[in-house]
Amino acid sequence: RKGCVVITGASSGLGLAAAKSLAETGKWHVIMACRNFLKAEQAAKSLGMAKENYTVMHLDLASLDSVRQFVETLRRSEMPLDALVCNAAVYLPTAKEPTFTAEGFELSVGTNHLGHFLLARLLLDDFKKSDFQQKRLIIVGSITGNTNTLAGNVPPKANLGDLRGLAGGLNGVGSSSMIDGGDFDGAKAYKDSKVCNMLSMQEFHRRYHEETGISFASLYPGCIAETGLFRNHIPLFRILFPPFQKYITKGYVSEKEAGDRLAQVVSDPSLSKSGVYWSWNSTSASFENQLSKEASDAEKARKLWEVSEKLVGLA
Ligand code: NDP
Repeated sequence: RKGCVVITGASSGLGLAAAKSLAETGKWHVIMACRNFLKAEQAAKSLGMAKENYTVMHLDLASLDSVRQFVETLRRSEMPLDALVCNAAVYLPTAKEPTFTAEGFELSVGTNHLGHFLLARLLLDDFKKSDFQQKRLIIVGSITGNTNTLAGNVPPKANLGDLRGLAGGLNGVGSSSMIDGGDFDGAKAYKDSKVCNMLSMQEFHRRYHEETGISFASLYPGCIAETGLFRNHIPLFRILFPPFQKYITKGYVSEKEAGDRLAQVVSDPSLSKSGVYWSWNSTSASFENQLSKEASDAEKARKLWEVSEKLVGLA
């Protein structure tokens, strides 16, 4: 049978390109888990994806009710769950004030980390029912959260501190809207959320790989400088960023190439190792990359897991 993969945020950018790449192999049915149903349908159509290769399902990661609803809908559809890609993200680098999810968490961490954390946790049960050979749970990471890289050292740097803001509810009222308890900074909130993504992947691996056989992995597909991620940035940035990445840092990758890389992590038998953060070199060969000290801190990963469980109502 075909594999069945859920990709969050498959209505644009990396998620859409990976959806197309996987659908085209004829080996995968893609469930596009998106907050904007119509946009996702139109995106799939405009790329010429064949109707029988995908299903759009509603998911708004900025609402934990919506996450639970999505899980119910998926179960009712009786489609198996063989792979899950936590890809959706918001990036609000120019925001002066924090905005919040339905439950009142700062929006970047609430969407990128907490929404995905609940989704992945709930879907573990569904994974267990799948008879698929190589089950995979992929969480898209980023170089920007890794302070052992040049890009990760551009201020403001990611730093989760002692998680006091997160433990306080990240609501900007009784507590800070930032994980480390500091003042709101949209660019930092995004980087922090990506550190959470990479820490969660490793904690999933430690807790569940042996028991379930699921491979947990993260990746940095390269800098896809033209995606919607930068829609909230200033216009000059959006003009200069793609050529800067192409010619100066040489970290640029097209949406199609990045989509193919993500598709590899979902389905290539040679990328089945669990607990790995994948990257690609200049000849497009994949390799196991090193995470920064903070993004590989096992104690922090455990604490993040426990605090996140409380916030999403699992503990
Ligand atoms: P896009 O903005 O093109 O895609 C983000 C997707 O997330 C969109 O489909 C968007 O939906 C969706 N999304 C946002 N908020 C929600 C929500 N509340 N519920 C459900 N879906 C939501 O950006 P990219 O393709 O660049 O980003 C994809 C991933 O790649 C992210 O995890 C990002 O961190 C990562 N990444 C990107 C890099 C880059 O250079 N672009 C580099 C490294 C990592 P909608 O279409 O409705 O807005």
